[in-house]
Formats: sequence, C-alpha cells, structure tokens
Amino acid sequence: MIKEKLQDAINEQIIAEMWSANLYLAMSFFMDKEGYPGMAHWLKEQWIEENGHAFKLADYVIRRGGKAKVDKIDVVPNDFGTPLEVFEQVYKHERRVSELIDKLVDVAIAEKDKATQDFLMEFVREQVEEETTTSNIVEMIKKAGSTGVFFVDVKLGER
Ligand code: MG
Repeated sequence: MIKEKLQDAINEQIIAEMWSANLYLAMSFFMDKEGYPGMAHWLKEQWIEENGHAFKLADYVIRRGGKAKVDKIDVVPNDFGTPLEVFEQVYKHERRVSELIDKLVDVAIAEKDKATQDFLMEFVREQVEEETTTSNIVEMIKKAGSTGVFFVDVKLGER
C-alpha cells in the first residue's frame, strides 16, 4: 500500500498534469485563431497526452491502495504571442514539468518506495523526450523565419 505522503505528492502531480493539459488546450485555441491549424493540432494532441499522464498517475495510486483525487485547477493564460514565443513557452514549461517529476521521485526515494520509483522512471524518460521534441520545434521555427513558419505549421499538423 502506498504511503499517504507519496499519495498526496502524486495527487499534486495529477493536478499539475491537468493544468499542463489546460495550458496546451488554451495554446491550441489561440494558435487556431492566429491561423496556424497545424500547430493548433499539435497542441491539442499534447492536451490529450497530458490528460493521459494524469490518468496514468491516478490509476497507479488506486492500484497501490491509495486514493486518487481531482482538485481545483488554476486558470491558465489565454494570450501567448508569436509561434516562436508559444513554443519557447512550451519548452520552458516542459523543463518545469521535468523538475516536478524529479521532485516526485525524491519523495518516493525518501519514502523508500521502490515500486513508485520504478513507476516514475517512465515519466522521467518521457520528460527527456518532451524536452528534446519541444526544443527541436523551437529551433525549427527559428531556422524557418517568418515565411518558413508556415512549413513548420504543416509539419506539426502531421503529428
Ligand atoms: Mg505530462
């Protein structure tokens, strides 16, 4: 059975994942309005993925005999800027999420819960992927310049 301290920390991460999902959904709506349907699509897929992380964490807590909770989720911004600014923010946010996952691992280590440490490694690896992917998109947008950004939009629409 999972210890309460760890259960609470995972529940906090569930909220963080749902907040991330909302952030990407807001970005998706924004980019759609700005005329970047491919980027809007990419961000909507990201919304689905973040919700998936929340579900996976909740499922794990329940399987370990704990209680998964849904709590208040803070508001997200709704105005973002240029495609470059949006994806710079995405990359920055993913680095922040990596820090949160690392802190969660620290709690699992402090609680000597090996199963949770093992479970969380999937999230640690996932964050390496997320950082790489989003950093690559930032670089792509930079290289593309103001006209080439539309090709990046088409590419991200293929996700
Ligand atoms: Mg996530």
